Amino acid sequence: MKKADVVVIGGSAAGLVAGISCHRRYPEKHVLLIRKEEQVLVPCGIPYIFGTLGSPEKDLIPDALLSNNGIELVKDEVVDVDRAKKTVAVKGGQEVAYDKLILATGSSPIRLPIAGSDKRNVFVVSKEVAYLNDMLAAVNEAKDIVIIGGGFIGVEFADECKKGRDANVSIIEALPHCLQLALDTEFCVEAESILTERGVRLFTERRVEAILGDDQVSGVRLSSGEEIKADVVIMGVGAVPNVALANTIGLQTGTSRAVEVDNYMRTLSDPNIFACGDVAEKRSFFTGRCSAIMLASVATAEARIAGANAFRTCCRNLGEIGVWSTIVGERAFACA
Ligand SMILES: Cc1cc2nc3c(=O)[nH]c(=O)nc-3n(C[C@H](O)[C@H](O)[C@H](O)COP(=O)(O)OP(=O)(O)OC[C@H]3O[C@@H](n4cnc5c(N)ncnc54)[C@H](O)[C@@H]3O)c2cc1C
Repeated sequence: MKKADVVVIGGSAAGLVAGISCHRRYPEKHVLLIRKEEQVLVPCGIPYIFGTLGSPEKDLIPDALLSNNGIELVKDEVVDVDRAKKTVAVKGGQEVAYDKLILATGSSPIRLPIAGSDKRNVFVVSKEVAYLNDMLAAVNEAKDIVIIGGGFIGVEFADECKKGRDANVSIIEALPHCLQLALDTEFCVEAESILTERGVRLFTERRVEAILGDDQVSGVRLSSGEEIKADVVIMGVGAVPNVALANTIGLQTGTSRAVEVDNYMRTLSDPNIFACGDVAEKRSFFTGRCSAIMLASVATAEARIAGANAFRTCCRNLGEIGVWSTIVGERAFACA
């Protein structure tokens, strides 16, 4: 059986940084990272694939980051963990023994359970290269693009979809303003006016009640009764932690249904298993209360702590501070 001192599950923002942090703190230890994907995207760059970058292949994290840091990479899916024997099993049949395990299985986008959400050309914001290539092909063909959700992801997608395309782009947002969960109203209004100047149509204080069409989407119906044409619908409405594996192996989850960890990023259920990134439960630095924020900046901060604490508790997580920034048109917006 293959053996490693540390096995990291997940190779995106959290897994990658946890592996590097662990290797730097304990260079004598063998770190092995297992991830499902052939190639990993820079998640924050995904909206820019649809305008500025032009393809998912221009938004990849090079695997050299792993090899340059002495981390062994296995491309496979972890399907089980035997906590008593301290082994992980991958889909390909192999087993790997570990001393410490770092769970960084991340999150998956939410597909709203509204009528018609399973129609062709209704997309969520996945982090997979093949899926995004299909989505890009559909966006390139589209005359009418509807984006559900006016948060950062929806706004970035709208702005990028307008670049170099003559398509009609609309954002449907349930709140009175786009970006309202993060920014004060005056900044939301400023961002909205830039979007409008760039030709993006905004439908705030409205929800999508149904996605219309036969096999393929042809439009959406709003709570106001309005119908908007759509060849492509993009849902940018948040994500849920990938806890299937954690649930299978009996790791305790918390209020936000993510894996419960202590201040050292150790899971509450098993001192040999750490969790970090979108899959780990978070507490606000300011209030100490549970927070459902999912950000790469937070994921990588937690990952540094998890990796450093693998064999000796030396770093403490004091809670998360959500830091956002984006560009709409030529104007940068940021807040913490
Ligand atoms: C479009 C978009 C834009 C964003 N923009 C920003 C931004 O500007 N700033 C910011 O701070 N954050 C941003 N975020 C959020 C940020 O991307 C996430 O917080 C970050 O990706 C979390 O990293 P993670 O490693 O925890 O999880 P993920 O990125 O979800 O990665 C999880 C990894 O685990 C792997 N995995 C899961 N299960 C298994 C298994 N059983 N076996 C093997 N591998 C497995 C997955 O395949 C994946 O590689 C954005 C997110 C999206 C979707």
